[in-house]
Amino acid sequence: MYFTTHLSCGLFCGALTKNSLGALCLGLVSHAALDMIPHHDYDSVGGAAVDIASGLVILSAMQTLFPGLSGPLLWGAIGGTIPDLEVALRRIFPGYKLRRLFPSHSGLLPHPQREFPKGVLVQFAIIAVCLFFCFSLGR
Ligand SMILES: [Zn+2]
Repeated sequence: MYFTTHLSCGLFCGALTKNSLGALCLGLVSHAALDMIPHHDYDSVGGAAVDIASGLVILSAMQTLFPGLSGPLLWGAIGGTIPDLEVALRRIFPGYKLRRLFPSHSGLLPHPQREFPKGVLVQFAIIAVCLFFCFSLGR
């Protein structure tokens, strides 16, 4: 699943918990839950660059809009996105040999794929819902 999708859900976790540790933990759980929804994954550097840049713009905007929740929003975003670091390291460094540990990456939990464009549209819907509730809870 895209970085921006995981990040948006992590922001929602931050707005929901309003607590940095709670946001981090819930963000990690949200990563596993989202990976189980059939989705599209890209495998290009350009796609990753656009995705990561978009996510960081959203994170910055939300922290600016809700400065009182800046910490929980950041930690929710970290919890929601950090599990994919092990996936990114494998792609960046072909010689990277460490086993995947996160349950939705190791095969312990399902990680179904969905073709373009349905696999993209489902992620746009998730982003919209998460940001809507993040706005609602952040006020
Ligand atoms: Zn993942």
